[in-house]
Amino acid sequence: MKRTLFLNPPSYEDFDGGAGSRYQATREVWSFWYPTWLCYPAALIPDSRVLDAPPLGLGVPETVAIAREYEMVVLHTSTPSFRLDAQTAASIKAARPDVTIVFVGGHPTAEPERSLREAPAADVVVRKEFDHAVVDLAAGRPIAEIAGVSYRDGARVVHNPDVVPLHSAALDALPFVTDVYARDLDYKRYNSPYCHYPYVSLYTGRGCPAHCTFCLWPQVTTGHSYRTRSPENVYEEVRRMPRLFPEMREVFFDDDTFTADPARARAIAERIGPLGITWSTNSRANVDCETLKVLKDNGLRLFVIGYESGNESILRNIKKGVGIERARRFTRDCHDLGILIHGTFILGLPGETRETIAETMRFAREMNPSTIQVSLASPYPGTHFYDWVREHGYLAVDQMVDTSGYQKCAVSYPSLSGEEIYDAVERFYRSYYFRPTYIVASVRKMMRDPRERRRMLSEGRDFLRTMWKRRRAATAGPTPTPVAPSTATPAA
Ligand code: SF4
Repeated sequence: MKRTLFLNPPSYEDFDGGAGSRYQATREVWSFWYPTWLCYPAALIPDSRVLDAPPLGLGVPETVAIAREYEMVVLHTSTPSFRLDAQTAASIKAARPDVTIVFVGGHPTAEPERSLREAPAADVVVRKEFDHAVVDLAAGRPIAEIAGVSYRDGARVVHNPDVVPLHSAALDALPFVTDVYARDLDYKRYNSPYCHYPYVSLYTGRGCPAHCTFCLWPQVTTGHSYRTRSPENVYEEVRRMPRLFPEMREVFFDDDTFTADPARARAIAERIGPLGITWSTNSRANVDCETLKVLKDNGLRLFVIGYESGNESILRNIKKGVGIERARRFTRDCHDLGILIHGTFILGLPGETRETIAETMRFAREMNPSTIQVSLASPYPGTHFYDWVREHGYLAVDQMVDTSGYQKCAVSYPSLSGEEIYDAVERFYRSYYFRPTYIVASVRKMMRDPRERRRMLSEGRDFLRTMWKRRRAATAGPTPTPVAPSTATPAA
């Protein structure tokens, strides 16, 4: 086996863009996802190491000094960080010319040929889920025989057939990813603003049955079939976690939609409930009340819910599959049961107008989740949303983040400019968090729990600093002008 380094490369300061982050950007508050996708194959290759540079604060020179000790570097990259990652790969190659550099992630999956062209230091792209292909590469199996791989052959790029996604039983057969976290990562360097710190996340399944047009992973890497680990297998991993991470306060099941199979969600909850562990997860706003009760009774603290918009037509345009009324009923049930919600919203989706933005702000206040996240619609290559904005000439800029890694508005519509959408994010946050009722509730929460007080004050500081930086970037940056639709088509 080649000595292999699994690398989340350094990029922008505090950039949350690793192999576990769905939407890569510098966040409003301190946030790092676990590089879970890199840790699975790392568990299968003896003497490998996962190096997650951003949470460690490592720069390119320190990273290269470590990477040059390895024969193969598997580098996770993304659309927003790609240019910097290509430079990092070049620095590693310059330090060790015989190294094999493998690019993985949503961006090279969607655009393998372009990725190899724009990152000459990358030798290979592994598309989609890369667990076993990377092991085969490390073992020296002939590249032509490895499914899911794209590579150069002289002047042309060869694309081997896609890998067959791991089915449920094969997921159970994978090693526990948390063992690799314990081996290579410091769990206290990871934070999610809505999880109790320190948290540890893992997947109990892969893929999402929903078809949201903007969503990267199910369309590009993981697919629309929800492949799941057995409740027993999940229980076995969770049971060991307090020993591996003694100060862990919460487990986060980071499946795209943990509740997509309610019976299985209940089975997992009932299995882990007796462990007394607090957990949170992602869900759609369509879970029945009976299931919610079972989850809550067995340790569920918080749901991350993608409401996306408060406008029914936009929800239809993006194929959300959950309408306003269903979301209202679900949210009422959660409030009644004491399940907290982190609600996520997106501005700039197809059909957005000034009125729909105001409607979504009102809807957010009506749903009243405990925290919110407001993102700019980001057209990732490989998604229907990306194809749509290109076809209509609505792609305003080709970079999704600014020079600090903060989200830029990449879309601009004839009746709603990118600047207006960008500015609305801050108005949204202010209209939500600066309400007297919200402030009073937050003060009460801080008085009840000193740990929450510290966390909320620190996040409040981060948040205000970010808003200030966004405003500065907006006044300094050029006005985005729509670019002509490209004739190139996404490869995936
Ligand atoms: S439900 Fe969530 S994870 Fe699934 S496709 Fe929609 S946005 Fe993506």
